[in-house]
Amino acid sequence: MGKILEIAELGHPVLRKVASEVEDIENEEIQNFIDDLIETGIDSNGVGIAAPQVYESKRIFIISSRPNTRYPNAPELGPIALINPEITSFSDEKEKDWEGCLSIPGIRGLVPRHKTIKVKYLTREGVSKEDEFSDFVARIFQHELDHLDGIMFLDRMESNHEIVTEKEYQKFMTKILEEKNLGNEG
Ligand code: ZN
Repeated sequence: MGKILEIAELGHPVLRKVASEVEDIENEEIQNFIDDLIETGIDSNGVGIAAPQVYESKRIFIISSRPNTRYPNAPELGPIALINPEITSFSDEKEKDWEGCLSIPGIRGLVPRHKTIKVKYLTREGVSKEDEFSDFVARIFQHELDHLDGIMFLDRMESNHEIVTEKEYQKFMTKILEEKNLGNEG
């Protein structure tokens, strides 16, 4: 069982650094850190969290996907740790959707991401894996990988007009859901 770590917020330089590769995955300190990162992700109810977000400039992130209202077909995945992750190829097709970030509390933005990506990473057991992700999981992967390169989702946005506060986001998402439900009744 891990412990809950403090989350770095936008403005702290650790979020703007390129994180270092992990070489000693079997090291107890790294293994304990992965437990802590998973625990911190669960505690903050996030779908992903990257090591720099807890002040550790290492190439590790966690993905935790489950079906939700915007992605009812999202797979149940994780929480799993991905170490030294890379994108090996991606679809030209991009999609824009809303993202939030534990390090930018209270803000949401519309971010374009590749719809499908092929990836490579090491598991916490040190096993090399290749995978193909699309939609929601591809979005989480790209968001978290950016954290390892010092990139925040705000940097990927096309317009400041597509930044909203959590309060307004919740308001219009509730409205869209209500309209959908009304439509279903008809
Ligand atoms: Zn983030």
